[in-house]
Amino acid sequence: MRKKTIFITGTDTGIGKTIVCAGLAAALKKRGVNVGVMKPIATGAINNTSSDAKILKQVAKVNDEDSLINPYCLDLALAPSVCFELQKKEFSVAKIKESLKELLNSHDIVLVEGIGGLLVPIYKDYLVADLIKDLNSPLIIVAKNGLGTINHTLLTIKQAQNFGLDVLGVIFNNPEKSKSDISQKTNLKTIKEISGVEIFGELPFINKRKDLVKLAASNINLGLILKKLNPRANDFQKLSAADKKYIWHPFTQMRDWQNEEPLIIEEAKGCYLKDVKGRWFLDGVSSLWVNIHGHQKKEVDQAIKNQLNKVAHSTLLGLANVPSIQLAKELVKITPKGLNKVFYSDNGSTSVEVALKMAFQYWQHKGAKQKTKFVYLENSYHGDTIGSVSVGGIDLFHKVFHPLLFNSFKADSPYCYRCPKNKIYPNCKLVCLEKLENILKNNHKKIAALIIEPIVQCAGGMIVWPKGILKKMRGLCTKYNVLLIADEVAVGFGRTGKMFACEHEKVIPDIMCLSKGLSAGYLPLAVTLTNNKIYSAFLGDYAAQKTFFHGHSYTGNPLACSAAIASLELFKKEKIIDNLQPKIKFLEKELRKFKELPNVGNVRQKGLICAIELVSDKKTKEPYPWQDKIGVKACIEARKYGVILRPLGNIIVLMPPLAINKEQLKELLEVAFGTIEEVTKSYK
Ligand SMILES: *Cc1c(COP(=O)(O)O)cnc(C)c1O
Repeated sequence: MRKKTIFITGTDTGIGKTIVCAGLAAALKKRGVNVGVMKPIATGAINNTSSDAKILKQVAKVNDEDSLINPYCLDLALAPSVCFELQKKEFSVAKIKESLKELLNSHDIVLVEGIGGLLVPIYKDYLVADLIKDLNSPLIIVAKNGLGTINHTLLTIKQAQNFGLDVLGVIFNNPEKSKSDISQKTNLKTIKEISGVEIFGELPFINKRKDLVKLAASNINLGLILKKLNPRANDFQKLSAADKKYIWHPFTQMRDWQNEEPLIIEEAKGCYLKDVKGRWFLDGVSSLWVNIHGHQKKEVDQAIKNQLNKVAHSTLLGLANVPSIQLAKELVKITPKGLNKVFYSDNGSTSVEVALKMAFQYWQHKGAKQKTKFVYLENSYHGDTIGSVSVGGIDLFHKVFHPLLFNSFKADSPYCYRCPKNKIYPNCKLVCLEKLENILKNNHKKIAALIIEPIVQCAGGMIVWPKGILKKMRGLCTKYNVLLIADEVAVGFGRTGKMFACEHEKVIPDIMCLSKGLSAGYLPLAVTLTNNKIYSAFLGDYAAQKTFFHGHSYTGNPLACSAAIASLELFKKEKIIDNLQPKIKFLEKELRKFKELPNVGNVRQKGLICAIELVSDKKTKEPYPWQDKIGVKACIEARKYGVILRPLGNIIVLMPPLAINKEQLKELLEVAFGTIEEVTKSYK
């Protein structure tokens, strides 16, 4: 039997949670189940003994240490949060978890009796519901049968489900001797019908304590409880087989995938992800560069739930919706000056498609019909749709599609470690701009726009640009009358240490693309922002055919927009950008060590984006053959130490959520260091 906890909560205080819990424990024991009990927090405990814990112990006949059964004993009879405050005591969930772990060592099932109801604050704003969630425990609700029961019980069930708790069912109790009325007979049926939740039975009023066990055994459906407790929907073997049978994973050689054991994520909290085997992993790449505030961030969760209670989706084609308006207004406020029109789409690639088509059509309206081409940089990545691949500079991904793509001009990438001109910054005088300038000088009449990933070319290998080059690119675009498209899909929202990468050099692009972190990593959402000059070129009589004919089904999705609004509020409330600075410095200091490793050619960092480039020969900068997948090997190794990474070829990427703290950063760096050492040493 798999070890289990069942959390017992009530619809209110004083409804007999303890009696039900004790009776249930004893009845299960009688059935041969090895049951333990726990009352993690007791209040009103005179002389440091909790009467509830005592009843539990006596009835269930367990002899575990009191300190395990009742780790927190508070003598005032008030809400625990108030007791902790008045008694100046500290609270830690870890202590409860440890006691529970120990109890589970000697029991198969541990019944954990809560305190009050779900919304009772335990410590500051940490509620009983949070504790249940943290203990990862399913729940039985104890309700008193009588007048008002339906409302109380349904409220508790609803709230539990809202928190994402697993409600096993309800047990009714009669703490007072009362005449049975008609409501008591119909309540149970009504509650089951409305909630769809199981009713495990009803305990009659218990006159003598010694009758409790017998009455519990005969009135509670123990078999049903055990049955509900056992089937695991998330069985690893079954899920793994189904994944391999039905899913085609992105950017993945599926033959390799078929031969490997997948890591299947089922839950996440803060900077950690949990797989179906119950293991926790540090999310070292922000779930592929999208997550900002960590997972299950209360404010974002709540915003989405609130919006869900209004409308999940309504179109922006011919209609407007509330969250998309509010978000657009906020985005215009925080993005570089002059960008004041927001065009919605739903992922980074489409935000780039929108930008390209917008730039193209702009020049058509301006009468510059021949301005139809784009300039992009080597090593750039702007997404996977055909338009965005046409301005993509990563051969490994893009070469096969060449016959499908439109022709564009390719300029050099300011990749200092592998300088296209073999120079060293700053003596190079940014000579890598020469090619760009030549393209613009000779072809500007044909060119609509230059598209860039400002400051860091991400998918190309987290290539951090030398200072000053972005500003120079802006200057060249202005000089040659070419639009500048800044694709900040990856670098936006604080990743580089500023809200937007363009801020580092006070650059204002003509068009800006945002996605990934926009919705805090919760839901697909993207925007393309532009200025009045471009926007107004599209205005005219309908018959003049100046309309921008582009749009997606999920454009301006209200759920995604509400997540984004909540995220932007958190940026302000938690002063995220300010608080990043010490973490960035810490990272900078800690990354120095990596440079000493024999096969680390280059270490790059901007904000919380880091790249560690592995080379087979440090002197010649000879890369490892890409087919050997050294980066992948390092990342698989890191999983053994509880860290999830995803490389870019031979480059190890660290890009944690902005919410990561110093201890977690340290953990991330230590594991990365160890695994790099390990795989480069064992490479032959
Ligand atoms: C990820 C990315 C995209 C593509 O975004 P998707 O949402 O994956 O389509 C575009 N540009 C940059 C710079 C990116 O990093």
